[in-house]
Amino acid sequence: MLDGTTAEIKPREALRINPAKTCQPIGAMYAALGIHGCMPHSHGSQGCCAYHRSHLTRHFKEPVVATSSSFTEGASVFGGLANMTQALSNIFTIYDPKIVAVHTTCLSEVIGDDIPMMIKKATEEGIIPAGKVVIHANTPSFVGSHVTGFASMVTAMVKYLSESSGKTEAQLKDEPQLNIIPGYIDPADMRELKRIIKEMGVKTVLFPDTSGVLDLPQDGRYRMFPSGGATIEQIKSAGDSVGTIALGHFASHPAAEKLDEKCNVPCALLELPYGLTNTDRFIHALRNHGGVDVPGTLGEERGRLLDAMGDMHQYFHGKRVAIAGDPDHVIALTQFLVELDMKPAYVITGSSGNHFEQRVTEILKDQAPEAIVKQNSDLFALHQWIKNQPVDLLIGNTYCKYIAHVEKIPFVRFGFPVLDRMGHRYFPGVGYMGALRLMEKINDALLDHKDRECPEETFELIQ
Ligand code: SF4
Repeated sequence: MLDGTTAEIKPREALRINPAKTCQPIGAMYAALGIHGCMPHSHGSQGCCAYHRSHLTRHFKEPVVATSSSFTEGASVFGGLANMTQALSNIFTIYDPKIVAVHTTCLSEVIGDDIPMMIKKATEEGIIPAGKVVIHANTPSFVGSHVTGFASMVTAMVKYLSESSGKTEAQLKDEPQLNIIPGYIDPADMRELKRIIKEMGVKTVLFPDTSGVLDLPQDGRYRMFPSGGATIEQIKSAGDSVGTIALGHFASHPAAEKLDEKCNVPCALLELPYGLTNTDRFIHALRNHGGVDVPGTLGEERGRLLDAMGDMHQYFHGKRVAIAGDPDHVIALTQFLVELDMKPAYVITGSSGNHFEQRVTEILKDQAPEAIVKQNSDLFALHQWIKNQPVDLLIGNTYCKYIAHVEKIPFVRFGFPVLDRMGHRYFPGVGYMGALRLMEKINDALLDHKDRECPEETFELIQ
């Protein structure tokens, strides 16, 4: 419990307390699961791999498979080549994946293992069977965050897999295909993006795609490699697309830029489609790229969201909100809270990057110019600010619940990880329908709190 957190704020630069992020390989492992038939491989000790798998399993409530190079003292001294070679041999012999996505850990980065050399050697020695693929991303956890790891693995997909077949511009425009890089969002969100895209009638490749991998229906059978995920062929064909929409500056833009550099596929950067404006922008981009009209069904969804925004405005207006989480999530959510006429007061991310502060400050410049906005921050700082000037609502991942509990603040779980609730697995947060759900959660949290705390004379049947 956090009863001991003090209101007195002392300057500290080289210390993070209760970080608002986790380590790079977790993001790399999650991204790798979005390739069909992929075995994520952790080049390091078993402890790292066990932690990363269990963290993802606790969030997604699904068994997460991954293998490890199983470093011991010997690998730490002499390097991990022998472990990697043995691991690749075992993985292809026992599990037979289509592709192995290797990410590094702190230990293999510190000893300086050369992963491309190891993959080349394993290929030459026939350890990687013909037709199988091994890709890699460097994910040292002493820098960056799980978001950086995710971005690095998606960029590795482009580096290793995407190709331009040399078709002319006219040939590509005959049957135009659009790439969508969805960012670090839940499988339910990826499923919802695909539903919107299908309604729009645009041909797309969405990668990575963890829907159908980490949100499987129960049919009594276990499949190590479920039917979902972007196929190698689809990611390869991304080099022949007419454009890429990267959803999120931090998680998706690096891969989109790499695709532009490698295959000359132009990219457009959008924020995650949380809320009204960001969903409008996403649909507008699909319409422009695909040369299609927006179907009436999506217009109706938008209308229902607008109606609900009007109905709930009385509860949201002017409420002070603290937000913590991944940078792409928080930027898009801040935009939505402004649309709901709320007042973000403290907005933090544990990841680093000046873009976060610049963009959030820009979003808040009219509605809440006095807000504290910090990149590379932590939950201890957030708690101290709340102690000094309280908020009406806290939005963040499960770790924020300790602050909400001790300060008695209404709390909405949002982002990654959510370890103590289930809904994110089934219900999307993106798109108009996702926005509606998010509003419902916020409203319920505020009104539940009011019902719990108010004196008897204001305890109302109708709110
Ligand atoms: S921070 Fe480094 S050592 Fe710790 S679990 Fe992550 S990769 Fe392993």
